[in-house]
Amino acid sequence: MDLPKCCKCNYKFSWGSVFRTSFKFSQEIKCPKCGTKMYPTMKSRQKMGLITIIPLVISFALQAFGLPFKFTILIFLLFSVLGMILLPFVYSFVDKEEPLW
Ligand SMILES: [Zn+2]
Repeated sequence: MDLPKCCKCNYKFSWGSVFRTSFKFSQEIKCPKCGTKMYPTMKSRQKMGLITIIPLVISFALQAFGLPFKFTILIFLLFSVLGMILLPFVYSFVDKEEPLW
């Protein structure tokens, strides 16, 4: 796993800038080096969806096993934070917008 790069000039985006982009509605990122506007690929959008779903699935499973609710919340938060940390690494950008699905 690696941080995404600019498809034009190979500039490596910082974790923080990709992280902020993932919360933007347009999800576009501008390369600070060459100024190219880029959008996340369909595949990285799908991976991002998966990362947000995993903590939910895990906590549901823990609840089903009868774990205390407090514990489940803790695990949920832990996996959510982990997911957010990993999020910028699953991104890859292209210089044209792809349809969502
Ligand atoms: Zn660039």
